[in-house]
Amino acid sequence: MAEQFDVVVIGGGPAGYVAAIRAAQLGLKTACIDRYTGKDGKPAPGGTCLNIGCIPSKALLDSSKHFHHIQHQYAAHGITVNDPAIDVGQMVSRKDKIVKQLTGGIQQLFKANKVSYFNGTGTLHAGRQVLVAMNDGEEQSLTAGHVILAPGSSPIAIPKVDFDDRYIIDNAGALDFSKTPGSLGVIGAGVIGLELGSVWQRLGSEVVLLEALPDFLPLVDTDIAKAAAREFKKQDLDIRLGTMVKSAKVVKKKVQVTLSTETGEEQLKFDKLLVAVGRRAYTEHLLAADAGVDLNERGQINVDEHNRTNVENVWAIGDAVRGPMLAHKGSEEGIAVAELIAGLPGHVNLETIPWVIYTDPEIAWVGKTEQELKAAGVEYRAGSFPFAATGRGLAMGDAAGLVKILANAETDEILGAHIVGANASELIAECVVAMEFNGSAEDLARICHAHPTLSEAVHEAALHLDKRAIHRAN
Ligand code: FAD
Ligand code: NAD
Repeated sequence: MAEQFDVVVIGGGPAGYVAAIRAAQLGLKTACIDRYTGKDGKPAPGGTCLNIGCIPSKALLDSSKHFHHIQHQYAAHGITVNDPAIDVGQMVSRKDKIVKQLTGGIQQLFKANKVSYFNGTGTLHAGRQVLVAMNDGEEQSLTAGHVILAPGSSPIAIPKVDFDDRYIIDNAGALDFSKTPGSLGVIGAGVIGLELGSVWQRLGSEVVLLEALPDFLPLVDTDIAKAAAREFKKQDLDIRLGTMVKSAKVVKKKVQVTLSTETGEEQLKFDKLLVAVGRRAYTEHLLAADAGVDLNERGQINVDEHNRTNVENVWAIGDAVRGPMLAHKGSEEGIAVAELIAGLPGHVNLETIPWVIYTDPEIAWVGKTEQELKAAGVEYRAGSFPFAATGRGLAMGDAAGLVKILANAETDEILGAHIVGANASELIAECVVAMEFNGSAEDLARICHAHPTLSEAVHEAALHLDKRAIHRAN
């Protein structure tokens, strides 16, 4: 006999587990099926984000940043550290502990909220019947009033560059090196390439990022991307634009990469090669032939603006549907869908989803870039302010970068906010709030910001829109 639930969620990443908890909070009998197991083979809900994505990468970014700062920034503060060394094994096991703590925490939250958790692979059949192939070999059959599909995404592979999980690796492999590779090639200077490339470069690896496109970070506001590129250059991060990788093979324990550039074909050798050329929706084993759920030409699950699929009471959220592939976007969709199922209003504004790239300096933005506004023919005004003109930035010894704010020329409504600099990941939140309230640049300009803080750069950038910034020439 199939067990009956109000809501069955397939996938326990930040989209799925959040949807399940919210549905249970709303009094719905809820199950969450997730197949992921941790390094110890035990159930590990939390998906890509907790296990091999956001959290482990940030743990390594923080560890490597400390090491780098000891070597390159402490002296200016008058602190001398002789022969600093990094124990990569300890760094990785610290990361593993954080992951385990968080995946364990989700299992506790499931218990506290009475979410039934199934560690296995769920497949949707007609009539909202879900068969679960449990990781322990058992089979379970569930039926549901509503099914939420949250299967996430997986790394894209490129032709003639085959993962072997030892020399040619994806993001999961690059989080688990047992020692710093002497050299690391990275295909793709996107978000993963920059973050994980930074980790190993700070620890002493010779990192080369091979990027097919001629422009650096084309999704990012051009001024911000240029400022970031300048900082990465100072750090000797070798980013080669307009470089197309043709093939890679392992020869005598080295990865030999053949690439083509404007000047012709070239070969490079690395100890390890990380492939980070994007991710795609992961829908294997998710849909039985009779499930009837439509996918689009990119393999994503087709949804409307409320995350409804074409099948009644079947919803889809997170990386497997349109929109940015970000943990917080999936979580917001999970909450909105659970609330819609419970008869409440639920909505996600895809226009105000913040992005953060956790490099040093960090890059964060929300809304439109200047190049997007130009292309759309929108009349706008821009204001900017460098962290080098803030007292806090100088006091911290971390004053690279700037804040840039774009507002509608006529109404002054904020259309985009762009930051490259220390703590950009936290500073962007103020701009998201302002945009969610349809705030104007004048609103930001009239709000009192604590002194001395980095947030004063946001304030001054808003003032600069009107050529009335105090601490810079207008
Ligand atoms: P996932 O997290 O992929 O979770 C889906 C889960 O469903 C997985 O556990 C999967 O095994 C399971 N599953 C799939 N199919 C089935 C099935 N049929 N049955 C049972 N279970 C199934 N985003 C940020 O916002 N900030 C960051 O700092 C950030 N850093 C990242 C760093 C890296 C290295 C990577 C790779 C990604 C990063 N991301 C970051 C992106 C973020 O991880 C994803 O956007 C997010 O995890 C998507 O959530 P999701 O729930 O849709 O999917
Ligand atoms: P990405 O889209 O950010 O970057 C991939 C890069 O690879 C692009 O610049 C692309 O032009 C390049 N590329 C594609 N094919 C190539 C080829 N054959 N040779 C050379 N370059 C090539 O993708 P990603 O870095 O793999 O990350 C995937 C997604 O994961 C991100 O888009 C983001 O949604 C998510 N993510 C987010 C964070 C964060 O929020 N901080 C961190 C990591 C990942």
